[in-house]
Amino acid sequence: MEEADRRQKHVKAIIFGAPGAGKGTYGSRLKEKLGVEVIATGDIFRELMKDNSELGKKVKGFVEKGLLVPDEVVVEILKQRLSDIPEGKGFILDGFPRTLEQAKTLEGITKIDVILLLDVPDQIIIERLSSRRICRNCGTVYNIRFLKPKVEGLCDKCGGPLYQRSDDNPEVITKRLQVYQEQTEPLLEYYKKKKLPIITATTKRIEQKPEPIVDELIEDLKKQKLA
Ligand code: AMP
Repeated sequence: MEEADRRQKHVKAIIFGAPGAGKGTYGSRLKEKLGVEVIATGDIFRELMKDNSELGKKVKGFVEKGLLVPDEVVVEILKQRLSDIPEGKGFILDGFPRTLEQAKTLEGITKIDVILLLDVPDQIIIERLSSRRICRNCGTVYNIRFLKPKVEGLCDKCGGPLYQRSDDNPEVITKRLQVYQEQTEPLLEYYKKKKLPIITATTKRIEQKPEPIVDELIEDLKKQKLA
């Protein structure tokens, strides 16, 4: 393989979409299929919230209200995680950036090749979020209506117990969607102006299975020689 080709396989992407659009679900499948790392800031915060540290308590105060954790906290964590990724290995950022400030800071840290945009109607998002379940051990995402585990309440991958996120309740879901529309969605315009390639995957049906969408994303990445 040519050196240039090999470099192109290590895509640096942002997976972008509203809460519940499927960033975690698609991100983990793309990780397996493309051999890239995923940095999911929400997952990192949920881990931090498990311990009683000052930082864990601080983060919890924001996450449980559906508010954004302050930029300086997020950026510090992101920098650390990015620096752990071996030189030349690709990655997908899930849940970062969420503000213009974060997007600008990211530019000073690393180059991004492409945005993977998950376009999902609001109605599907709300239905999905309220029936979402997560594995307490490995973070795999399920849905008790549309993406069921083989054994009720248990993770297919590791057998861990499934739980409902404390911020997946109607009141906090409404807040998170509002925060997304006000602070995060405008980033799309920002990236369009920067002429960053955007690959869009549209979900039209609530019962949509993830695999075809993932395959579609990979096909499009290949067309752009990014996978
Ligand atoms: P997520 O798992 O991506 O839905 O994130 C869960 C929660 O973590 C969000 O509602 C925010 O409170 C917090 N969070 C995750 N990523 C960020 C970020 N980049 N900036 C600020 N807060 C974040």
